[in-house]
Amino acid sequence: ASGKFDKEKGVNVQVILRCRPLSEEEMRMNTPIVISCNEYRREVAAVQNIANKQIDRTFVFDKVFGPASKQKDLFDQAISPIVNEVLEGYNCTIFAYGQTGTGKTYTMEGGSKAKNGEFPSDAGVIPRAVRQIFNILEAQCAEYSMKVTFLELYNEEITDLLTLDDSKFSDDKSKKPIALMEDGKGGVFVRGLEEEVVYTASEIYKILDKGSTKRRTAETLLNKQSSRSHSIFSITIHIKEYTHEGEEMIKCGKLNLVDLAGSENISRSGARDGRAREAGEINKSLLTLGRVINALVEHSGHIPYRDSKLTRLLRDSLGGKTKTCIIATISPSIHCLEETLSTLDYAHRAK
Ligand code: ADP
Ligand code: MG
Repeated sequence: ASGKFDKEKGVNVQVILRCRPLSEEEMRMNTPIVISCNEYRREVAAVQNIANKQIDRTFVFDKVFGPASKQKDLFDQAISPIVNEVLEGYNCTIFAYGQTGTGKTYTMEGGSKAKNGEFPSDAGVIPRAVRQIFNILEAQCAEYSMKVTFLELYNEEITDLLTLDDSKFSDDKSKKPIALMEDGKGGVFVRGLEEEVVYTASEIYKILDKGSTKRRTAETLLNKQSSRSHSIFSITIHIKEYTHEGEEMIKCGKLNLVDLAGSENISRSGARDGRAREAGEINKSLLTLGRVINALVEHSGHIPYRDSKLTRLLRDSLGGKTKTCIIATISPSIHCLEETLSTLDYAHRAK
């Protein structure tokens, strides 16, 4: 099965599950594994048998990638078809969702940096998507233009990862604040957001590198916690085409690649440790995203896009003639089991 493409209702949300391997540290500690993946049956089982607490649950997803899965496998089997849709004029969004430390950034960006333009084997979804887009456009000798934006959302505030410089940290009042604006036609745009026009794949890799570095710098300087922020890397492509009658037509597609805040920011229930959660601890955008996706999947009339910046930003790419892929990431360790079950539940509800 390749997700649920319901042409009539126009909803297509695909949920894939990836379990990372134990880290070296976890292996040294002989950390028990409580997750087993059956890629063929697309099943993930969480099993723990302690006398007073028995857990045995199985979840089915559109695709499952176990601890031995390679970046290339995940991309080729799950993401590459979505990139093709972007070039057909769809708006598509790929989310990485999961507890901090389970491999969201590894999956989206990759394990190591490209050296001397060489493509590392652990390159993630973003560089692979960029490479595929350029390969196809060049093979088609297409006339096209492409621009990218890269932003971070933290506490419902937008930071531009393309222009962020030191002035951000001094009191430079001349700098226009970044704001989400309605365009009056049901869409939104971000005022003051840098859009960089790009011509080659390597330009995009550089932008990605610069942005990720800035994200880390801002984190330290502004005392942020990266586990609480979302990053959104968007590529918009316009392709010139001609109809049979020779008329010029512009096809436009957009790909959003979203590294979400750690899911522990929403899933931990106050009941667990007997403390009510502080209001600030709740990640509004992450919560709203879940509600929006549920509403889309259930064809409910009201889609609460307006309730968070993340969903407002992605509105033109969620619902309608769009495709969405959620990559839910989990750890196999016994110590993460509670969060893993929340992730499995959340991701399963999105199906
Ligand atoms: P997150 O972004 O969800 O907080 P990271 O992507 O930073 O998590 O991953 C945490 C650590 O685990 C990193 O050191 C990363 O390289 C490693 N890791 C995550 N997923 C995998 C994987 N599938 N294979 C190998 N290492 C991984
Ligand atoms: Mg991360």
